[in-house]
Amino acid sequence: MLLIPCPWCGPRDEPEFKFAAEPALRPTSDVSDAVWADYLYLRTNEKGFHREVWSHAGGCGQFFLLERDTLTHTIHRALKPGEPS
Ligand SMILES: [Zn+2]
Repeated sequence: MLLIPCPWCGPRDEPEFKFAAEPALRPTSDVSDAVWADYLYLRTNEKGFHREVWSHAGGCGQFFLLERDTLTHTIHRALKPGEPS
């Protein structure tokens, strides 16, 4: 089980959290349905270092950016929205 450091609450067990999204630039409103579908539903699911948006759904409810390695399960850091990366 991962121990995820919520930027507001500190380290908590993984079941308290929900994966929310991979950070991506939001397309403009004039793109095709296929581009919107890719943005909403496709994930890169990369192996290794990865940046993801998570929420502390079972705690404070805040969203944050989590940097982790999907191969080793090492968590590098968690950042509040707008915090310099
Ligand atoms: Zn929290």
